[in-house]
Amino acid sequence: MPTRDDVLRELNLAPAWTPRTRPGQAAPSAAVDEAAEPASARMPRADEAQARLARIGALEWNAFADDVAACTACGLCRTRNRTVPGVGARDADWLFVGEAPGADEDARGEPFVGQAGRLLDNMLAAAGLSRTRNTYITNVLKCRPPGNRTPEPLEADACKPYLERQVALVRPKIVVALGKSAASLLLATDAPVSALRGRVHRYGGAPLIVTYHPAYLLRTLQDKAKAWEDLVLARRTLAGAVPDAPVA
Ligand code: URA
Repeated sequence: MPTRDDVLRELNLAPAWTPRTRPGQAAPSAAVDEAAEPASARMPRADEAQARLARIGALEWNAFADDVAACTACGLCRTRNRTVPGVGARDADWLFVGEAPGADEDARGEPFVGQAGRLLDNMLAAAGLSRTRNTYITNVLKCRPPGNRTPEPLEADACKPYLERQVALVRPKIVVALGKSAASLLLATDAPVSALRGRVHRYGGAPLIVTYHPAYLLRTLQDKAKAWEDLVLARRTLAGAVPDAPVA
């Protein structure tokens, strides 16, 4: 008989949902816990977590955005204005994954509509793509972290089933991870973008290219040329001109 911890580990929810108390230690009150750990919502029971994963894993497009809008799996549901599920062609060859919505995205409900989004749109146009044509754009997180802080591991874990379902629904021929948050989650690594870019990885059966986040490129103009090289590598990989990474 598997223990609760076994189930959580199997569902990829450990240690995110592991109680923070040790045996013999009093559980923190909800108020104290919330203040210390803003990302955490109520800890779900193992059967609730399993049911959530099963539900998200079976979502079709017509129910996807509503499911995201109703999500309370992490504390970001308390501070978001709008959820930001994704935009683009549902059968796109290209899937771009960013980090998380910012203020503009939180207000509009669409990813990459601020300054970084304008740069991404320009990069897409230069590659013969657009946010509505043959491209789907989403983020690791579907809700804005307050102050645009980096996503907490617990938040990324809680949102991951939605990204996995999007990958399964879109079935992209190439995935582009924009920045460290996306690369870390998709490749389960802590390596920096500089160490991951320039070669072909794999995710969910598709080749994956890592490149710099557009917001980083706005601050670091000299790396724009490398981001362009990454898009060219992605295009060549999609065309079959680059040998794919072996399936791990
Ligand atoms: N940065 C991101 O990573 N995603 C957005 O949607 C906007 C800015």
